[in-house]
Amino acid sequence: MIRFENVTKRYRGTAKPALNDVSFNVDRGDFVFLVGASGSGKSSCLRLIMREDVASSGQIHVLGHDLKRMSSRKVPYFRRQIGSVFQDFRLLSTKTVFQNVAFALQVTGASRALTHTNVERVLELVGLTGKEKRMPTELSGGEQQRVAIARAIVGDPKLLLADEPTGNLDPATSTEIMRLLARINATGTTVVMATHEAGFVDQMKRRVIELKFGELMRDEAHGGYGDTSAIPRLAPVKARGEASAEALSAMRKVQREVATGASAGATAATAATAATAAVVPAAEPEPQIAEEVIEVVVEGRAEPSVAEAAEAQTADEVAESLTTQADEVAADEEAAQNATSPRPLTRPIVIPEINVAELGVADRLGLSDFDDDDEVGPTS
Ligand code: ADP
Ligand code: MG
Repeated sequence: MIRFENVTKRYRGTAKPALNDVSFNVDRGDFVFLVGASGSGKSSCLRLIMREDVASSGQIHVLGHDLKRMSSRKVPYFRRQIGSVFQDFRLLSTKTVFQNVAFALQVTGASRALTHTNVERVLELVGLTGKEKRMPTELSGGEQQRVAIARAIVGDPKLLLADEPTGNLDPATSTEIMRLLARINATGTTVVMATHEAGFVDQMKRRVIELKFGELMRDEAHGGYGDTSAIPRLAPVKARGEASAEALSAMRKVQREVATGASAGATAATAATAATAAVVPAAEPEPQIAEEVIEVVVEGRAEPSVAEAAEAQTADEVAESLTTQADEVAADEEAAQNATSPRPLTRPIVIPEINVAELGVADRLGLSDFDDDDEVGPTS
């Protein structure tokens, strides 16, 4: 999927190369952390993979293409097979959430119907259903990054590159983003993520490629961020399903820790943690929770009891419960008149888990091969 052979990258006017004789392979379905201190060459490496830049020497093959020999005319079509996510989100500030994601498909000439279906699908995957009409400024940092991830995957890319995607986010939000990337990887998308945050890397025990001053220091199948001598070796991974389950188990552990430390938000974080269990069959016995709980706020005049909220199991039941409650409120006119101001009604809504088998199937959606040279594609 990605092959670097003795790649050196020198920028004009700099004495030392940003990458020096770097060689590695990334296989289809891998989840790879690219780690190293600031200035070690991580972003340079990702830019070379996307062909935003070309190597000074050495060979780079990505998705079967020799990037040195690729004509600039072909580059836009090549890039459509690669999703990218950045530390600073890079959303279009004058466009809504929906438009930001749809844009990525519209430039490929996708029909309105296909665009709509796919945008809604990925917005659901990243947990932003219902926020389609928001502007980026009306979202939290974590939500903005989820829009950026939705945009990156809406075309069902074979490869997702993330350059410090959690760099601007707090730890709990970063965990959510990591969980999302692990889920995307579990659907078959190869993920390469540059980071200098040790916590995730140590916890996830996935492939780690470490750069230092532009040189490849380490390439480990189940590495941690720093010295890994104390980390027990895991058995070689035979199947990607096992690898995914392993990543998600590790993620759950991270999230449990975050949830424990976060006290007030701990319940929601724990619920979200448990939801990852449904993505792939777990290699070890894990509680299977097939539904994901998110909180929605509905304008109303009454609050549900905690017990009622906890009992709600499906969206239908919640809807029914809300209707019942509305009837009760309407019947109690006196209480309604006495209410001085509307109070928000917070309800858990249960969203069915995404069917992994239906995700990431670029071939089936006809989005994976863009050989139509007459089309005009994105240039970045
Ligand atoms: P990282 O992403 O790990 O922080 P970078 O790939 O951004 O590292 O940078 C690696 C080295 O290359 C650094 O010394 C940086 O200053 C240099 N560098 C990066 N981009 C350019 C550029 N466009 N022009 C000149 N030097 C650059
Ligand atoms: Mg960088």
